[in-house]
Amino acid sequence: MKVERINKSKLDSIDFNSLPFGKYFSDHMLICEYIDDRWLEPRIKPYSEISIAPCAQVFHYGQSIFEGMKAYRKKDEVFLFRPEENLKRFNNSAERLAMPKISEEIFIKGIKELVKLDRKWVPEKYNSALYIRPFMIATEEYIKAMPSRKYMFMVITAPTGAYYDNKIDVKIEQKYSRSSPGGIGFTKAGGNYASAFQPTKIAQKEGFTQLIWTDACEHKYLEECGTMNIFFVINNKIITPELSDSILGGITRDSIITLAQEKGYLVEERKISIEEIYDAEQKKTLKEVFGTGTAVTIGKIKSITSKLGKIEINQHEITDKLKKSLLDIQYGESKDIFNWRLNIK
Ligand code: PMP
Repeated sequence: MKVERINKSKLDSIDFNSLPFGKYFSDHMLICEYIDDRWLEPRIKPYSEISIAPCAQVFHYGQSIFEGMKAYRKKDEVFLFRPEENLKRFNNSAERLAMPKISEEIFIKGIKELVKLDRKWVPEKYNSALYIRPFMIATEEYIKAMPSRKYMFMVITAPTGAYYDNKIDVKIEQKYSRSSPGGIGFTKAGGNYASAFQPTKIAQKEGFTQLIWTDACEHKYLEECGTMNIFFVINNKIITPELSDSILGGITRDSIITLAQEKGYLVEERKISIEEIYDAEQKKTLKEVFGTGTAVTIGKIKSITSKLGKIEINQHEITDKLKKSLLDIQYGESKDIFNWRLNIK
């Protein structure tokens, strides 16, 4: 892979004790172009602005997808966590948006090379990590509404601290939808996030941290929470909405299900209605609620509000246990029993 190194690292200008999410970017980036039905050689070069024509398809029709993953440090070792799952999801997104798939050679090897080169940017602290953002945009210079024939795949990385500082207050959204059956909710397409911003802004103005999205047809079943999948502990059973084409299948979600089962918990992936949650609250069987995602790992949900009232959740024992198990694997503190870590040599 062709590598052009920076002349002077920006590392000294970063305060690693105060790292907002996704604001500071490391020295290098990866870039690879798709032209004439094939991917060209990927290149690593200094992080910099790029030049794209105003008529490039991405600005008009939104063919834009991304991934989110992290590199974790244990002393001199740096690990990626299940990167092949990110590749799989990226290619699922690509397919649904009529974009070209990418090979393991470019995606995983490219990320490994990039993180290896910028390994000093992977923070030391537990709960901090190097956030990795692979993305693909349509770059053909043509404003006809059709799939682009030129694309750019890039990877940028950003050292980051904890995502939410505090516990999360959520509102169940029953007016707006994030996604719908047959739509693109299961992909990491930029447009999914754009359509979530306004409803989220309204909820935040009302004092909530995030929304819980409900199904687009009846607004009756819970889907996901902001950029997290959602879990409920009811009667010591762990319940999470089953995946569908309107829910993003989180890699943290999958890992938490595996870890919970390994610890002997019963995990149910099924539809879960608003009514069931309020019913469980009344019967005092609703014990814990948490969200899962790469940025936050596990976010503790402190309250849920809907037309039916506010539910306060004060207990997070199982949540804490699962969070520690996952972080210990990610940071190389425990045995990698599921073969999830990829050591960057
Ligand atoms: N749902 C949405 C909408 C998300 O953006 C994310 C973050 N990628 C997740 C769920 C959680 O996915 P993961 O655990 O793979 O980060």
